[in-house]
Amino acid sequence: MSLGDLPPLREALAAHGLMARKAFGQHFLLDLNLTRKIARVAEVGPGDVVIEVGPGPGGLTRALLETGARVVAIEKDARFRPLLEALGSVAGDRLELIMDDALKVDQAALACGPAHVVSNLPYNVGTPLLIKWLTGPWTPLSLTLMFQKEVAERIAAQPGSSAYGRLAVIAQATARARLAMEVPARAFTPPPKVDSAVVRLTPRADRPSPARLEALQHVTAAGFGQRRKMLRASLRPLGGEALAQAAGLDPRARAETIDVAGFLRLADAWLAGRDRLRPAPQ
Ligand code: SAM
Repeated sequence: MSLGDLPPLREALAAHGLMARKAFGQHFLLDLNLTRKIARVAEVGPGDVVIEVGPGPGGLTRALLETGARVVAIEKDARFRPLLEALGSVAGDRLELIMDDALKVDQAALACGPAHVVSNLPYNVGTPLLIKWLTGPWTPLSLTLMFQKEVAERIAAQPGSSAYGRLAVIAQATARARLAMEVPARAFTPPPKVDSAVVRLTPRADRPSPARLEALQHVTAAGFGQRRKMLRASLRPLGGEALAQAAGLDPRARAETIDVAGFLRLADAWLAGRDRLRPAPQ
């Protein structure tokens, strides 16, 4: 049997008596044309290793396997094991199944080298996983991820837009990010309340060091914590006007207008002058 001979996903779900479970954030993509489109966005093929989080019934997994890639699939819901094992028996040694929580699994050890991440993420773990992949010790070659459309827009947002905030700065300081395709809620079974979108991220070779990333977390938290205020006010706990000036920024500007390079300069200035710029205790 080949991948093309597998029964339609709806039939496979019915044959295994499986229904979506809300607690696991389950909204399935059962249209193989759509999952093939996502696999094309991922630009993976023979010789590539792909980590897929949350394969569920395996629609995206099938499309990824069809490209010729090897897939390491991490699924928390044990009910899907038989269905995914059936897929594995067709894909041979190109599908490795890990029935576990992706937040706990050491993905560097799984991939045994460079790997891409492709996933229709469970919404409740999507953002923590993204931050882990972009700022943690193991960095994927690329990430092709489904998010709620509003979250996808926040990841790819540009300065000056209402969606621009901490997530955009952290994501874009560590990766090139683009909104690759929109997916309406009705494309999922069962449909979620909101539309979704696929984001494609390519981690930068010159990712900021862990110390710079930590500093970036501080300055973005302060800046966007009070996004309507001028930097001289919102950054006051970190050095206010002096910090903005040290970064070459207008202290009267607001965080939402500062580009990623500006935030990185703020992070550097904060690191350089952490003690000098800190206001004296009152
Ligand atoms: N990829 C499938 C598709 O496109 O049809 C399923 C997508 S569904 C939105 C999310 C999947 O992630 C579910 O199968 C769910 O059981 C799984 N999941 C939820 N939390 C998880 C976690 N922490 N680790 C691994 N898988 C998880």
